Amino acid sequence: MDDGVSDMCLLEPVSVDSIIKNIRVRFGKDLIYTYIGNVVISINPYKFLPIYTRDVIFQYRSRNIYEIPPHIYAISDEAYRSMRDRNLDQCVIISGESGAGKTEASKLIMQYIAAVSGKGREVDEVKEQLLQSNPVLEAFGNAKTHRNDNSSRFGKYMDIEFDFKGDPVGGVITNYLLEKSRVARQSDGERNFHIFYQILSGAGTSFLKSLKLQRNPAHYHYLSSNSMTECLLTDKENFEITRKAMTTVGFNVNDIMSVFQLVAVVLKLGNLKLQHHTKIDGNEGCIIQKEEELQECAELLKCSCDRLKAALTQRTVETSSEKIRTDLSCTEAIYARDALCKAIYSRLFTWIVEKINDGIRTKRRGKKKSMGVLDIYGFENNGFEQFIINYCNEKLQQLFIELTLKEEQEEYIKEGIEWIQVQYFNNAVICSLIENHSQGILSLLDEECLRPGTVSDSTFLAKLNTNFANHDHYEARNCKKNQNDRSLPFDAFRLRHYAGNVTYYVDGFLEKNNDLLFRDLSKTMWLCKHPLTPILFPEGDPYKTSMRRPPTTSSQFKASINALVKDLQTKVPNYIRCIKPNDEKKSDVFDESLVRHQVNYLGLLENVQVKRAGYAFRQSYTQFLLRFKMLCPELWPTYNGKMEIGVRKLFSYLQFPEEEVAYGKTKVFIRNPSTLFSLEDLRAK
Ligand code: ATP
Ligand code: MG
Repeated sequence: MDDGVSDMCLLEPVSVDSIIKNIRVRFGKDLIYTYIGNVVISINPYKFLPIYTRDVIFQYRSRNIYEIPPHIYAISDEAYRSMRDRNLDQCVIISGESGAGKTEASKLIMQYIAAVSGKGREVDEVKEQLLQSNPVLEAFGNAKTHRNDNSSRFGKYMDIEFDFKGDPVGGVITNYLLEKSRVARQSDGERNFHIFYQILSGAGTSFLKSLKLQRNPAHYHYLSSNSMTECLLTDKENFEITRKAMTTVGFNVNDIMSVFQLVAVVLKLGNLKLQHHTKIDGNEGCIIQKEEELQECAELLKCSCDRLKAALTQRTVETSSEKIRTDLSCTEAIYARDALCKAIYSRLFTWIVEKINDGIRTKRRGKKKSMGVLDIYGFENNGFEQFIINYCNEKLQQLFIELTLKEEQEEYIKEGIEWIQVQYFNNAVICSLIENHSQGILSLLDEECLRPGTVSDSTFLAKLNTNFANHDHYEARNCKKNQNDRSLPFDAFRLRHYAGNVTYYVDGFLEKNNDLLFRDLSKTMWLCKHPLTPILFPEGDPYKTSMRRPPTTSSQFKASINALVKDLQTKVPNYIRCIKPNDEKKSDVFDESLVRHQVNYLGLLENVQVKRAGYAFRQSYTQFLLRFKMLCPELWPTYNGKMEIGVRKLFSYLQFPEEEVAYGKTKVFIRNPSTLFSLEDLRAK
């Protein structure tokens, strides 16, 4: 029976085709995990598999990665033990496109760690809090999209902290760039964030009433303009799950009430109808129809209805001597309303993450060990958000190159092993194109956002074109070299990412990067008596004199990604590369061209080549002998000689080919995993 190879370093020949074929054969047998050395390749089965039971967890506990079939538990176990026993902080970096299974993988890792680490009242409580942070974050940060019914619309890094025994004592979650535009608008057939539907279908009638909400989602503009309006069967039960999880992670009754009030406010503000209006003096303005909804919003926010109304329809311009109020046009008012809703929701999301962090923060003093799990967004196409997300993926790819390829090489040098270098594409040049201090795309964007005078998305594009006309990874229709490329629109530029070409439309880049809220709105929010709004809108404080401009979206993101990369660099990396088998979310369907694309951009071929040029397995002489000396009569049961000599005796006794093994200063290196498998087989016999 052909199960393919469990480690693709064993493939013969090595090519993209043979990699795909191997994944396909294994996928057909529900073998969804495959290794490339210690990197786990995971293909989404889109069906329930009985491979996550407690029994399976215990099979993987403290076993060597090569002894049992590939599994995400095996890598979790390796990482956990290396942290606990060798004091090496770990991180698990999970990548792959939307729907490939990243979030499920991150949950499996946490579930595994929770199952195999220590017990006790305090530790169990910490574990429960860490695990229950997931349903809360998913309710507020995930949505149904074309690609994934439960798509994470934010990036997440969860750092779990452990005491000296390896028991979890707390953690810290960092969130990255929630896709807040979804609050006000979704693509056809997609949904808004889960929590909106959960409340409407799951909340009791009196609770709904206290939030001044109606049960039918079709009543709400933000849930019905483009999106799939219906609630799903699971929304109702998930509401209960979310609410319970919020309690577990430390929200009290009042916190929960405050959160849901703001969720309700977002839905209700979205329903305000703004109508064009010519005033008696001939000036243009707009009025709010359906004042009841506005009144109810004011009640939920505990603020004056008039103030809220003024903030939504007018704008105050302050000069040194006076304040002038001008009316917003209808378009401006709709823009302001949506901007406010997006701000309330995304800031609420960040507040929720902070609140969870307050609950799970390690209370104990003393040195801690840690394991971080990174579940970041996949590569996507098109606008500003995607540009930022793709930048993040470039940085992670850079880290991958640095950590796995460079580190591998360094170990060979340290151990005095000869090694043939493999060529791989180093994407540092693209990272620099994007983030270079004064000359990168991000800094030009910020410069354009801050420049006085007439600036627009097109002046920004023109600037890029001038600066990067000759850059190998930059293309635009307006650049000389691309003028004939009709596939490139005039209002777009294209970057040649490591994962392939992506065309970005510049429309909205400046606005999204600026991310400014009219001051009247932030001031009004700050003045509300609602317990959360003053915290969410600190810049609205009228007594605060500093008028410093808040940092732009991209500069905030750049800073947080650089902090992340710095943190990851201090840890031992473990990789999980997720692959999506088809676009229909179906089980047992393998779309070869879709998989090929992912195999290419995940760089799996180079990954196999690098591993093969090197040695798949290495271990200290002492540890190796301890495990395998029983295979050689001369060493068994006791051997007192030099460890390296012992290992040499063993291999010469077993007559393995010479080129299979290399002897370093402290470790033995084995080229092929199959050699190790044979050793394990012999040992089992
Ligand atoms: P996104 O980037 O959109 O957040 P993702 O990579 O996080 O995508 P997941 O949400 O983890 O994708 O997975 C999508 C869906 O695929 C899951 O809701 C689940 O139905 C299915 N799935 C993923 N992994 C597994 C698995 N190991 N076993 C069974 N089903 C799975
Ligand atoms: Mg996800």
